[in-house]
Amino acid sequence: MPRSIPSITVSRLVAYLRVLTDLELQQVDYVTSDELGAAAGVSAHQVRKDLVHAEAPGTRGRGYTVALLRRELSSLLGLTRPWNAAIIGMGRLGQALADYPYYGNSSFNVKTGFDIDPSKIGQRLTSLPVYAMDELPQRVKELELDIALLTVPVSAAQSAANSLVEAGLRGILNFTPTVLAVPPQVRVEQVDFVAGLKRLAFYLQPDVAPASG
Ligand code: NAD
Repeated sequence: MPRSIPSITVSRLVAYLRVLTDLELQQVDYVTSDELGAAAGVSAHQVRKDLVHAEAPGTRGRGYTVALLRRELSSLLGLTRPWNAAIIGMGRLGQALADYPYYGNSSFNVKTGFDIDPSKIGQRLTSLPVYAMDELPQRVKELELDIALLTVPVSAAQSAANSLVEAGLRGILNFTPTVLAVPPQVRVEQVDFVAGLKRLAFYLQPDVAPASG
């Protein structure tokens, strides 16, 4: 039976992992649910509820062992194995992502780029090679690609997503401001920084209380 955890919980588990990674770097040994909640912007009660999924027992008074909980969460989130990724659309955003140095503890290997523009294919625009979209099925197998970072224009997003699905990719990180139709076995995560701006605008209004959680 596949595990099922609500998507909103997964987002919080990722936030806890980020806090725990920082604490481990600072050589902090223990963290309470109060401290973890404060750093992640949620209540201690929520932390305890979420961490039931991680099978990391806390000790009353001392809290969780940082290193142990970080390992458990990494494992739960599937971050103890490598994931191979490709950037689809090597334009302005695609090239910026190709050069991004912080994909996190080597779980994510961004291996290559794809494009349809002949002036980009075969060129070293960044540290990544750029292949033609026609080569996608072959390269997905050869490079054992799992994930696509989709950075094509909106008008090309659905057709590019169709090609990704046909080539066997199971995860799409969608930077295009459009909703993609994909079959149920394919997971799409939307990156929408304008949504962040809208949240900011809401909280900056004079009659709105500062954010809690
Ligand atoms: P861009 O025009 O600079 O780059 C798009 C690239 O996609 C080009 O190299 C083009 O040849 C390639 N392409 C077009 N059709 C393709 C296809 N079918 N398969 C593969 N490659 C294809 O655009 P950009 O500014 O990098 O933006 C890319 C996407 O990201 C857009 O949807 C945009 O809305 C979104 N976005 C951009 C930014 C930004 O800051 N530039 C920020 C957030 C989101």
